[in-house]
Amino acid sequence: MGRRVLIPTVAVLLFLIWGVPSAAFAVDGTRTPASPSYTVSLTSNTSGSTWTGHESITFTNPSADPLTEVYLRLWDNYHGTCPSTPITVTNVTGGTPTPLSVACTALKIALPVPLIQNESASIGFDLSIVVPSGADRFGSDGSYNFIGNALPVLAVRDASGWHLDPYTNNGESFYALASNYSVTLDHPTSLLVPATGTSVETPGTSGRTVTKATAANVREFAWAAGPFVKTTSTTTTGVAVNVYRVSSISSSSAASMMTTAKNALVAHSGRFGAYPYGEVDVVLDNNFWFGGMEYPGFVLDVVSSTALAHELAHQWWYGIVGDDEYTSPWLDESFTDYATDLYNGLSGTNCWNNVSWQSSAEKISNSMAYWDAHSSRYGTVVYTYGKCALHDLRRTIGTTAMENLLKNYASAHWYGISTTAEFKAAAQAATSVDLSSFWTTHRIDG
Ligand SMILES: [Zn+2]
Repeated sequence: MGRRVLIPTVAVLLFLIWGVPSAAFAVDGTRTPASPSYTVSLTSNTSGSTWTGHESITFTNPSADPLTEVYLRLWDNYHGTCPSTPITVTNVTGGTPTPLSVACTALKIALPVPLIQNESASIGFDLSIVVPSGADRFGSDGSYNFIGNALPVLAVRDASGWHLDPYTNNGESFYALASNYSVTLDHPTSLLVPATGTSVETPGTSGRTVTKATAANVREFAWAAGPFVKTTSTTTTGVAVNVYRVSSISSSSAASMMTTAKNALVAHSGRFGAYPYGEVDVVLDNNFWFGGMEYPGFVLDVVSSTALAHELAHQWWYGIVGDDEYTSPWLDESFTDYATDLYNGLSGTNCWNNVSWQSSAEKISNSMAYWDAHSSRYGTVVYTYGKCALHDLRRTIGTTAMENLLKNYASAHWYGISTTAEFKAAAQAATSVDLSSFWTTHRIDG
């Protein structure tokens, strides 16, 4: 997610709102259920604000510990008043559902028999999505609907057990393994439907279009629906970029953001590895209360070059190289803001001189549980101090070693999951400098 950025206006209005309101599978044997394949078919109402249909999920268990249950995360039920919720799951097959938990954001489904190592299973259910009002990552701004985190996704069980963390509006709680999606969206032809993945449109019933989007090795799937204006271009490296704008955004602003999108994708690809998904949809609305929000191949953004470069850097840091965003938000936000600085030609000179800790408990590597209790410090510490720490790491080990570290680390964790301990080990392996005091000074634990 991106912090709300200052947009130059004639009025010098200094306010700042933090980012509160972002095949082959990498299977590691401990994180399960793995290799999920989602098949979804939804039909919208005339405004694109409600969607009903069916979702099924096939998955395997790579763990030696049998799976006796799985959990669905119904993240957008945060936006309701539990038990009155915008996401409704009914008629579950392939297991037995139990009552919703974690403020209606978790649904446990007991499997009929334990799923042993390397076996596969499927669950299915009817699904209803009602998009609430509001220019949000799950919300409608007038006739424009933004539908992030709405599809129920499998929770992850790892060496720490099941991750059933609460939703956070300060940032992200999401933790998902690389997945395949096939999503069929039946909607009025008057509504454009940008989405994760690549899409094929076919005529539906009278006045309607069926958009089928497919995506491989992505952690989640988001889409939007509305009377957007669309422009299309291609990067020098062959990535298709579609910019969708609401009617209040000018064509010149969209053109400027298109240029930023193409330049940022090429720059990030050069640093961290080629963008693998072929296409990006950039959805612009200046009414978002955050600077931007990342989804695989799909970003929401205000008209801001820095915000867009940030959300696109998340394609690598959170998307391609995943992390448990609740436990270790710095692994995507600090890295993404560091990548944004590099894109902007900023080197963070002397930035550590401006660090001022609020308490001994405040650390860059703290979890969202801490930041939800200290929300005014989340942006300062995780984004600003975090990216500064990475600038300092570059100064400590050298520019070439840092460039190789990030590129090799991304490659080693491509479609996998990064942890703080793994990053620290990789950094240490990339230099002869003992980094022990570096991590202590920069308050990066793990
Ligand atoms: Zn972000």
